[in-house]
Amino acid sequence: MKQPTGGTLHGKADRTPGYRGMHSFTLSFDNYFVPAANLVGEAAGLNRGFYLQMNGFAAGRLQTGGRATGLSQAALERTAEYANDRKQFGQPIGSYQLTQYKLGRMATHLMAGRQLTYAAALAMDRDESIALEPAMAKLFASDVAVWVTQEGQLVHGGWGYAEEFPISRHVVDALVLPIFEGVKPILELKVIARGLLGS
Ligand SMILES: Cc1cc2nc3c(=O)[nH]c(=O)nc-3n(C[C@H](O)[C@H](O)[C@H](O)COP(=O)(O)OP(=O)(O)OC[C@H]3O[C@@H](n4cnc5c(N)ncnc54)[C@H](O)[C@@H]3O)c2cc1C
Repeated sequence: MKQPTGGTLHGKADRTPGYRGMHSFTLSFDNYFVPAANLVGEAAGLNRGFYLQMNGFAAGRLQTGGRATGLSQAALERTAEYANDRKQFGQPIGSYQLTQYKLGRMATHLMAGRQLTYAAALAMDRDESIALEPAMAKLFASDVAVWVTQEGQLVHGGWGYAEEFPISRHVVDALVLPIFEGVKPILELKVIARGLLGS
């Protein structure tokens, strides 16, 4: 995009292995004019843009807890269906205790992530300025999604790596969850631990 005043804005689409429902772009602003009326937070926002942006992170982390929970639920459902359908040595693989054990653990971790996310949502309903609970929900539910999708992929065996089966997409979609809206170690160190220590 070129402005009459000479400013330019370039956007480059960044290809990703998963999470293709929402594309990411690298934006380059060169001498790009932005009118004062567009200042985030209006006059009170001067030199506070970063902090205003930070205020939005708690809501983003809460909805990432929700996204992670939905992904885990999808992976669990697809895996249970596959375990019923796939037969090895004359019986569905879901009849083997190891498969049942895996499904039981997947469902329990999923429930824990879901309840933590609900608890964070309730806490944010009461006070939108909180940071701790949404960060915990995002951190935990994202780890659950990575683990549950990969367990589901193992239960699918070789078909778990085929694009024909949704579980392969769920695995790559889950990988981004511990990265965006605050990369995992930063949430642990700078948001959760700092919040608990009051530093
Ligand atoms: C698919 C995708 C979509 C995205 N969508 C959005 C979006 O819509 N909006 C948006 O604003 N952002 C978005 N992001 C950006 C995302 O939030 C950041 O990539 C993420 O927060 C991590 O920041 P970074 O990439 O700058 O990593 P960095 O800060 O460079 O971190 C890299 C590594 O260094 C470590 N590190 C960094 N600082 C420290 C420190 N002080 N102490 C110890 N270790 C440290 C980190 O733990 C991490 O392991 C998206 C990213 C992806 C991948």
